[in-house]
Amino acid sequence: MACIFCRIVAGEIPAKKVLETDAALAFEDLAPQAPTHVLVIPKRHVESVGGLGDEDAALSGKLLLAARDVARAKKLTDFRVVANSGAGAGQSVFHLHLHVLGGRPFDWPPG
Ligand code: AMP
Repeated sequence: MACIFCRIVAGEIPAKKVLETDAALAFEDLAPQAPTHVLVIPKRHVESVGGLGDEDAALSGKLLLAARDVARAKKLTDFRVVANSGAGAGQSVFHLHLHVLGGRPFDWPPG
């Protein structure tokens, strides 16, 4: 299995798990960009937001709710949820993930 996040789901690569649902896994980012930096991924391989199908509406909602629950678990009132879709947008791991970032102020628009 080549996909690194699929290997985390399979337990082949360790990760610091934050929460798990039927459809999603959340774990700490290896290279945090904020005091809280958690990745929320679907357990099923989907390449990116751009790779979601219309049939993935329920999955998409579950990922967003998992991101909310990460923020609650980390006691964040203010936080940012980011999904890079495509290399040109900064995506480096091609398994859909939501970055949940918090614990410091964020500029808008982002750099
Ligand atoms: P992106 O650039 O949006 O694709 O984000 C990929 C993120 O995955 C980066 O923030 C990396 O630090 C993170 N990452 C890569 N490999 C791992 C890993 N094995 N465990 C946790 N986070 C990882």
